[in-house]
Amino acid sequence: MKNNKKLQEYRQSYRADFIGRHYNGWLHLAFTVSASLAVIAYSLLQLKEPTWYQWLTVPLAFVYTNLMEYWGHRGPMHNRRKWLGGVYQRHTLRHHRFFRHDVMAYGDSRDFHAVLFPPVLVVFFLLLTVVPSALLVYWLLGANVAWLYAATVFGYFLNYELLHFGYHMDKDSWVGRLPGMATLRRLHTRHHDPRLMQCYNFNITYPIGDWLFGTLYRTDRNTESVRAC
Ligand SMILES: [Zn+2]
Ligand SMILES: [Zn+2]
Repeated sequence: MKNNKKLQEYRQSYRADFIGRHYNGWLHLAFTVSASLAVIAYSLLQLKEPTWYQWLTVPLAFVYTNLMEYWGHRGPMHNRRKWLGGVYQRHTLRHHRFFRHDVMAYGDSRDFHAVLFPPVLVVFFLLLTVVPSALLVYWLLGANVAWLYAATVFGYFLNYELLHFGYHMDKDSWVGRLPGMATLRRLHTRHHDPRLMQCYNFNITYPIGDWLFGTLYRTDRNTESVRAC
């Protein structure tokens, strides 16, 4: 209970210090969804009669992005790095203090600020990671593969944002009751346990990286005992 009070106090100070008076959570969510859909649609419209094997870009880019999600989260999001200190601060020092395994749901729409990537980071992500890697893919494998790659990465990003948003909604809401949501939410809830966050469940979406690298944490059915790391 005492801990809960501390978390609520942190939430109050986060709201006062970081959320501007004119911030609108629904607009933030609308930006994330519409900007991602615009990039996906634009990329798909550039395709010129892709062959069947060029479509294999989609599953390959999906797995690649899953591993980027894994290493990005396990690396700079949970370890302070010289050039990416802001990422660590935003994730470990703020997101993980705002949401704990026993208090996973946000309060109202202004709290979306603590869940979604800020728009400036979405643009940063597009310009500094997706564009250069898509150019490399274009140079190596041609335009169709590059556009399919860009569409898949942004589709994955949108999926990431919406799933993560869903985990931090009330678990009894209609989103929380969608098929598969309870299982994925449980994995992320485990990750929000301060005793586990540095070691387990770094995939926010599908636990492919966690499964490959042995960091998947599942609760035993009948016990709440925690394997601290
Ligand atoms: Zn989270
Ligand atoms: Zn984390």
